Amino acid sequence: MDYQTFKYLLFAWMILAILVFPIAVRIAAPYGRHTRKGWGPEIDNRMAWMLMEMPALIIVVVLGLTGEVAPNRIIYFILGLWILHYGHRSFIFPFMLRTKGKKMPLSIMLSAIFFNLINGFFLGYYLGNFANYPLHYFSDPRFIIGLSIFFLGMFINMRSDYYLINLRKPGESGYKIPKGGLFDYVSCPNHFGEIIEWGGFALLTFCLPALSFYLWTMANLIPRTLNHHKWYQEKFENYPNNRKAVIPFIL
Ligand code: NDP
Repeated sequence: MDYQTFKYLLFAWMILAILVFPIAVRIAAPYGRHTRKGWGPEIDNRMAWMLMEMPALIIVVVLGLTGEVAPNRIIYFILGLWILHYGHRSFIFPFMLRTKGKKMPLSIMLSAIFFNLINGFFLGYYLGNFANYPLHYFSDPRFIIGLSIFFLGMFINMRSDYYLINLRKPGESGYKIPKGGLFDYVSCPNHFGEIIEWGGFALLTFCLPALSFYLWTMANLIPRTLNHHKWYQEKFENYPNNRKAVIPFIL
């Protein structure tokens, strides 16, 4: 595929992300606390997490390494960051969850696989065929600042995820009000961290597919966060009313 066609397809995909946003705000994706019946057959949620995140890991690495352009150290580094995130998300995160017996609709898992494959295709195909990073890009301010933001976001995301997971003692179920650190400012610092992380990635790679992926991340995560926030407010009478949903002091 030539770059022009690639770009047109990518723009169409980015427009779709913008269209999906308001729908996702209105219809909370039915997994985790929003699980409800009526979404068809279900699958164990840990298995679903693994199966839906693994395709992203594989497709980017395979396409990134097998394209027409021989990968240089920058490309290997970018792929390393991708593996770091998706390796953790596919093979560690699902097994840390304290959600024994919880299910996820197969339809949600399949739509996540679709979303991951398309995003992964665009990024991997770009890295394997069109990317042209000179080696001195390692010292480019976009790379350095973007990388710092990426790791900051990853740190916030993982720390908050594991804090939330550990709110349940082994064998417990149900929900508690999270407290302390960023949780005093927003309901979902884990989502906030992930949004920061992929913003950093978009800056450090400075390419359209990563920008598109960032748009999709926001189109998925901001509605999910707004739904979580509303859920907390409805579930807990004493939920702190100065807490925002995802961006401290703003949203
Ligand atoms: P949640 O915050 O809903 O849940 C994370 C884990 O903590 C779950 O096991 C959940 O249990 C548990 N948990 C959450 N809140 C509480 C609480 N108050 N009391 C007790 N346990 C709690 O995260 P998501 O499922 O929305 O997302 C998980 C990860 O995946 C995040 O890092 C997120 O950023 C990422 N993600 C990324 C997307 C993207 O487009 N890039 C899209 C969606 C998620 P339970 O499952 O039972 O609710």
